[in-house]
Amino acid sequence: MRLCLTEAQGHALARYARDAAPQEACGLLAGVREQVEEVIPIPNAAADPVHHYRLDDVIFARTLMQLEARGLELLAIYHSHPNGDPIPSPTDVRQATFPDTPYVIIGLYNGEARLAAWRVRYGEVTPVEVYVGLPGTAPAVREAKLSRAQIIAILISAILAFAFMIILSLSLLPPAPVIVTPLP
Ligand SMILES: [Zn+2]
Repeated sequence: MRLCLTEAQGHALARYARDAAPQEACGLLAGVREQVEEVIPIPNAAADPVHHYRLDDVIFARTLMQLEARGLELLAIYHSHPNGDPIPSPTDVRQATFPDTPYVIIGLYNGEARLAAWRVRYGEVTPVEVYVGLPGTAPAVREAKLSRAQIIAILISAILAFAFMIILSLSLLPPAPVIVTPLP
């Protein structure tokens, strides 16, 4: 899983975070497959927007319908930490309701904006790769996991190589010496 952003979209996220400070900004990233095409701010409806965020339910639902009608997918949910690291807080982890949608966090610290994305599956947090560059320039994702067929093929070739080595070493052994038994 990866998210690809343009530099302009990264700057837009940083600007929304700075404009909302000291409150947390929040919104959606929409696009196709891994490429973000739009950054969509959503009002923060949290009771305490300085320390928490909650996407406004009605606007969130309406935006999702509009995205679907336009053939765009929800790629990530973003929010900002106006004075902190771009790392999910315990509340962020508890409130993460989308196990397959990355959570992007923009952390503002001493005027600097940093961005990171995370997948939160039932309390387990894993980082998501973020690529910033022009669309279509991200390097191809390596297939990290081997399929069952690949694992079986590797095992068979290892066994064949081992058997071949045994046969070869046996065939290279010098002939057995002739033992002459002395006659009585
Ligand atoms: Zn947070």
